[in-house]
Amino acid sequence: MAKLGGLTSALKSAKSSGVNLFCGYCGTETITINRRGICSTCEMPIEQDKATFSERNAELFQTIMSIKGSMGKGDFDGAAKLYEDAFAKYHDPGFLYAESLVRIKQSNAAIAQIRYDREGFMEENIAYRSKGALLVSNAKLLLSKAINVCNAAIASGLTPGTAYLLFLCYTKMGNQRAAKSALTLVGKSGNAYLAAYAKMMHDAATRDYMALDKDATEMLVMENFSANAMFYYALATLKRGDMEGTKHIISEVSKVVHIGSIDLLQDELEKFEKSFI
Ligand SMILES: [Zn+2]
Repeated sequence: MAKLGGLTSALKSAKSSGVNLFCGYCGTETITINRRGICSTCEMPIEQDKATFSERNAELFQTIMSIKGSMGKGDFDGAAKLYEDAFAKYHDPGFLYAESLVRIKQSNAAIAQIRYDREGFMEENIAYRSKGALLVSNAKLLLSKAINVCNAAIASGLTPGTAYLLFLCYTKMGNQRAAKSALTLVGKSGNAYLAAYAKMMHDAATRDYMALDKDATEMLVMENFSANAMFYYALATLKRGDMEGTKHIISEVSKVVHIGSIDLLQDELEKFEKSFI
């Protein structure tokens, strides 16, 4: 059975804090305790609630809400175009990274259409497969571009946000050796919270589930809380083969955040595995 000590008290605090932070890259709102956190969808850092964000960044807020709307309708191209415009306007490589996630999702949606049980499936499947591959190379280009922008910025001064974004891009590229070097930079940048989160993500990407279990547990205490750590903790527990423990975590977590049934978590876990190129 999974240990739930820290998790239970962190969940209680999250529930009573009632604070949700808004992601200025994808529009997701994520529950938090300490008014800092990581977006549960794109994993970018989040600091402001929705009302504050919309007040301080009215134009960008509208753009992000339009992107969210496009994604809700499955209009991947529309969302990607809005990210391109946002990058041209704000020069923030975070928009390139966010656009790459759209292309990865779009590729997964194309690959999911592949079927072997209908007439003429060969031609159709080839078309879906090549569309999927094209979208993945598009995502890789976007990530490379974001990496170049981050490296150029870091050359003139290390900031936690840029080091963390560099880490995210290498991780999504599947370049774990470069991600590890970027992880060291995040540590040097002086933001212990981002460094701890990046370490947890690196454990998952390198499939070190023992370390993931330990690092996710540490991110479930109040001082260092991240709602996503619940997901990583559940992933580590599932990968250890502890299905009962995973179900128990899910039932505790779902009292605070809506994550549906265990089946939904399994879908989420599969999507997570597919979210790396
Ligand atoms: Zn986000």
